[in-house]
Amino acid sequence: MNIIENLSLLADAINKSESILLVGHINPDGDSIGSLTGMKGYLSTLGKSVCAAVPNNYPQFLEFLDPEKEILMYSETPDKVREKADSSHLIICMDFNSLKRIDNLGEVIGNSKARKILVDHHPGHDNIFDIVYSYPQLSSTCELAYWIIKGLMQIYGNALPHNSAVALYTGMMTDTNNFTNSVLPSTFMMAGELMEAGVDKEWVQKMVFGGYSESRMRLMGHMLSTNMKILPQFNAAIMILTKEMKEKFNFEDGDSEGFVNLALNIRSVRISALFTESDDFIRVSLRSKDDFSVNRLSRAHFNGGGHERAAGGRLFIPVEEVEEYFSKSLEEFMEKEK
Ligand code: 5GP
Ligand code: MN
Repeated sequence: MNIIENLSLLADAINKSESILLVGHINPDGDSIGSLTGMKGYLSTLGKSVCAAVPNNYPQFLEFLDPEKEILMYSETPDKVREKADSSHLIICMDFNSLKRIDNLGEVIGNSKARKILVDHHPGHDNIFDIVYSYPQLSSTCELAYWIIKGLMQIYGNALPHNSAVALYTGMMTDTNNFTNSVLPSTFMMAGELMEAGVDKEWVQKMVFGGYSESRMRLMGHMLSTNMKILPQFNAAIMILTKEMKEKFNFEDGDSEGFVNLALNIRSVRISALFTESDDFIRVSLRSKDDFSVNRLSRAHFNGGGHERAAGGRLFIPVEEVEEYFSKSLEEFMEKEK
């Protein structure tokens, strides 16, 4: 199957580049880390010096994709990342579409003289890229990276390393919420081909969904039984994770992964929101089913964006005001969309 057009442009850029920097978004998720490590593994087989960098740390359950801890973090080693951005011939931005999504690292990437390529599945993109592979119709950036790599394998006649296959499968699996959202025939084809190539899907399942701590399970129970509120007038559900609760449940990065999806299992709920308080702002996570666009909702009211049914953003208000702000936003948004 040949889904990706104009791959000779990418091959040409790769041929001209000795050193390549791959960049992922802030608060990296499975799709981000999977696509970075998957692509890094493949490009390394072409004899290139390949590095991956993200703005900040990723959740602990993804460590199996980066066992040697090779992914650079701008929050930890800014000078090293800056040096890589300046010395690389090619920068490939993966799983994000705007430099705003990589925080302070955006300035570093924007200022680098390297050629810049976008590999992403979000709608729209900044106008700073020399070559763009933007496929919002694909499930995940990992799926896009897989079809790109398949095309490159035809050009170069080489193979996909096992670790890359595992990484791409993992990111696709997490970004579709375990084969629930945005899954297309091409997604199952990719999954089937990767299984045939030796990916042990049960092992990946265990690494991703079987590695949580006791405190995460208890926090999840608390969020569902006590914290979640249903707003029937909007067919919406809201959860608010405060700093106080994080402390009480020994919260670690990634512990709330997937919580926002849970409320969508309720028949009447079409929109689910999780607000997470941090030191500087409130992180917003939105999901929907049917055809409600949380991408547009987030752009209009939550300083963010994303996909039609999975989006995120940020709020800069006291946590006590979040519920009322959410209700008002929904009211205004639904009135406008009528
Ligand atoms: P999550 O709820 O998993 O953090 O994010 C879901 C999706 O929303 C992500 O895949 C990403 O596309 C998008 N997203 C999350 N946070 C932001 C944000 O601050 N700005 C924009 N533009 N998109 C975001
Ligand atoms: Mn993604």
